Amino acid sequence: MGRMGPASGCIRKRGAGQRRDLRMPGEEIEMRIGEPLIDNWGRRHTRLRISVTDRCNSRCVYCMPERGVVFRPRGDLLTFEEIERFVRVVAGLGVRRVRLTGGEPLVREGIDRLVASLARVPGIEDLGLTTNGLLLARWAEALERAGLQRVNISLDALDEASYCRISRREGLQQVLDGIFAAQRHGFEPIRLNAVAIRGLTEDQAIPLAAFARRHDVELRFIEFMPLDGQGGWQSYRVLRGEEIRAQLEAHFGRLIPAPRPDPSQPAVDYRFADGRGRIGFIDPFTHPSCGWCNRLRLTAEGQVRNCLFAAGEWDVRAILRGGGSDQDVASLVRACVACKKPAAGIASPTFLPPEQAMYQIGG
Ligand code: SAM
Ligand code: SF4
Repeated sequence: MGRMGPASGCIRKRGAGQRRDLRMPGEEIEMRIGEPLIDNWGRRHTRLRISVTDRCNSRCVYCMPERGVVFRPRGDLLTFEEIERFVRVVAGLGVRRVRLTGGEPLVREGIDRLVASLARVPGIEDLGLTTNGLLLARWAEALERAGLQRVNISLDALDEASYCRISRREGLQQVLDGIFAAQRHGFEPIRLNAVAIRGLTEDQAIPLAAFARRHDVELRFIEFMPLDGQGGWQSYRVLRGEEIRAQLEAHFGRLIPAPRPDPSQPAVDYRFADGRGRIGFIDPFTHPSCGWCNRLRLTAEGQVRNCLFAAGEWDVRAILRGGGSDQDVASLVRACVACKKPAAGIASPTFLPPEQAMYQIGG
């Protein structure tokens, strides 16, 4: 892996996209406008995914090794102040949507403080978080107060035995409690993510869809990607989106393609024929959406990436800790965007997965 740098309950819902203004009275909206981040294929980058830690309270088979995981020393992780500074700079370059992830973001101490500070960055219009849900019931109120808008919650199974087999931890009821807490606190939308793996997901697809319909949350199936910590990914283990669609249609009736207001969204969404519920498919293996990708990534230890599957990273931590200017940060981000490939090509026979697993990059 080459590191690169300039040198080398009662459900309260806020309307979708609506947010509280958390600026102090009289606080100025200061937004330096730089040239937008457009790559060589014309994709304008407006989204940023930030991993806040590589640590996790789960050990999902598709993400982490079961044992012997060595986490980054805490001093390697960007501080909240460093993350906020980075976000201020990229907001000035046109980034508008930020999602916090990990590892498990809710194990990072004081995560609500980070949310509050990012919610106040001028230009950031949309702030979300992806979590395994185990600690969400505990955090939901503080996160709402801090200004978080959306949550994605990973839920791969609806019976405890299957849940344990996949996550190698107990805790299904905690996750369900987290989903209901998120509803009570008005996050909108709430999405459930399920990784689709042959041999593990077939008997969960219908229960998960029925649950999502019953509780009025969105569900997305994500094809298993070659980013598991054990290097056990094989193409035959990818349960293809079209297989799950066929299974759901046999049970619930026809799935009707839903309008796609944002072409850069990785999921293709469908409505159920009876009008109850919405279901999405992220099919990076069978139907990659790279052509529309407008995402940048910041790893927990301060490396900027232009793709989940990229082999290179740009070391912004060195700039942030080495006295570099905001202009230096902006130049590094531009260099990273300029090197973005047109597509990741994960289904290509010549594809080489990155050295890091999903929990180390930030999914
Ligand atoms: N810990 C949080 C969670 O599980 O939601 C956030 C980090 S996790 C890496 C982010 C998302 O990546 C989760 O929805 C997870 O299911 C997904 N994911 C992890 N490994 C994956 C893989 N190999 N293929 C597809 N999705 C994966
Ligand atoms: Fe942890 Fe999320 Fe990876 Fe599961 S998918 S091991 S919860 S980081």
